[in-house]
Amino acid sequence: MACNKNHDGIQQILENLPTDQGGVGRHKCAACAYEAGYKAGYNLDGSLSIDNVLANLDESQARAQRHKSPHAAYALGYYHGVCKRTQDDNN
Ligand SMILES: [Zn+2]
Repeated sequence: MACNKNHDGIQQILENLPTDQGGVGRHKCAACAYEAGYKAGYNLDGSLSIDNVLANLDESQARAQRHKSPHAAYALGYYHGVCKRTQDDNN
């Protein structure tokens, strides 16, 4: 099933991700992967296996997230999540 979530807020981020036409999970929604990574990073939850996360994502929708690497998206989201948490902790 194709993802039908609203990913308007992160289109800019996704445009800068590398393209991935051949990797595992290439049809998965990179925007959802980013959001899952962000959540895991913010909660410092390293227990999730990325393979499991990707397997449970919806298929990609059109626009910036199409054909972007979901692995890179997850990792970038995780990074941003950790950074946000660090900021929040310091406030
Ligand atoms: Zn999505």
